[in-house]
Amino acid sequence: MIKFLDLKKINAQYSSEIEHAIRDVIDSGWYILGESVTKFEQNFAKYCGVKHCLGVANGLDALILIIRAYKELGVFEEGDEIIVPANTYIASILSITENNLKPILIEPHIDTYNIDIRKIEKLITNKTKAILPVHLYGQVCNMQEIIKLAKKYNLKVIEDAAQSHGAICANKKVGNLGDAAGFSFYPGKNLGAMGDAGAVTTNDNQLAEVIKSIRNYGSEKKYKNEYQGLNSRLDEIQAAILNVKLKYLDNENRRRVEIAENYLKEIKNSNIKLPMVSNKQGHVWHLFVIRVNKRNEFQEYMTQNEIQTLIHYPIPPHKQQAYKEWNNLCFPITEEIHNEVISLPISPVMTNEDVEKTILVINNYHF
Ligand SMILES: *Cc1c(COP(=O)(O)O)cnc(C)c1O
Repeated sequence: MIKFLDLKKINAQYSSEIEHAIRDVIDSGWYILGESVTKFEQNFAKYCGVKHCLGVANGLDALILIIRAYKELGVFEEGDEIIVPANTYIASILSITENNLKPILIEPHIDTYNIDIRKIEKLITNKTKAILPVHLYGQVCNMQEIIKLAKKYNLKVIEDAAQSHGAICANKKVGNLGDAAGFSFYPGKNLGAMGDAGAVTTNDNQLAEVIKSIRNYGSEKKYKNEYQGLNSRLDEIQAAILNVKLKYLDNENRRRVEIAENYLKEIKNSNIKLPMVSNKQGHVWHLFVIRVNKRNEFQEYMTQNEIQTLIHYPIPPHKQQAYKEWNNLCFPITEEIHNEVISLPISPVMTNEDVEKTILVINNYHF
């Protein structure tokens, strides 16, 4: 079976280095907010080219904390609106509703799957306070245009960078393209821990200070609480693992690009829609998502041929029971995407034979 993502094999490449790093944490006797977290925050800030990185418990919390901190700073208030793509993973939207702000869903572009810039401006109201672009599947949104709009209407730009570690737009890395960014280091992400982990990056000193406090009970100084904070800390062991894996992220992304380029060049089947690359410089191919009409049959065929595929995602957020109030809304492009998308295996440890076999099997599929 060609696995969709072979995490065991990915992590086995670095196992002795990771074991040493974990051993050092165990021996240090210090397990929360210590040296490894500080070191990772410095390393990841440097990697992204930003002033601040704050380790947090997971990617959802990273986004929640950014919005929460803007509330504490008086920039957002409950009931304000944040623009977000309708076809994102639900976490982007949860971060808004968790803070009692209102998500304004916008259709994506059918070819790039990223938010359709042309549809943003007419939905901006006097309640709109931010745009939350999601660099979906590893491809950066059209940030120049988003930032232009944000400047014009005085909006914050919060990147959901959970799928795009290392992606680049106009020579700047994701995480450094807006006012703040949320990253996830869930094990299957391009930079993955061995448990839950996340981070916020920003160049805003004030925002960084507030998030640093809120992630730790609203307390910068022990037993002195300035905010009604959360417990959303990155732990030392995960930070130690991330410090090892960060060194290899660019290599792994390069291999993903190589595989994607192969797929794009060699897959020739008129019933399959290949993903469109709008920004050749910086795509990091978290997922290689194609579209087919008869998805179930196609997936079944791939399974029979020992190739694992997954669907990202089968149900759009506005059709989820969690957002019952939106179930009657209609986002035809989003719905079409959710009905047709299927993700091919793309992981840095795939062999060339695996890639060739996948291509051959797809090219032989008759609808
Ligand atoms: C994974 C993901 C998140 C959330 O990350 P967790 O670490 O699982 O909380 C947020 N947004 C997007 C787009 C994601 O893919």
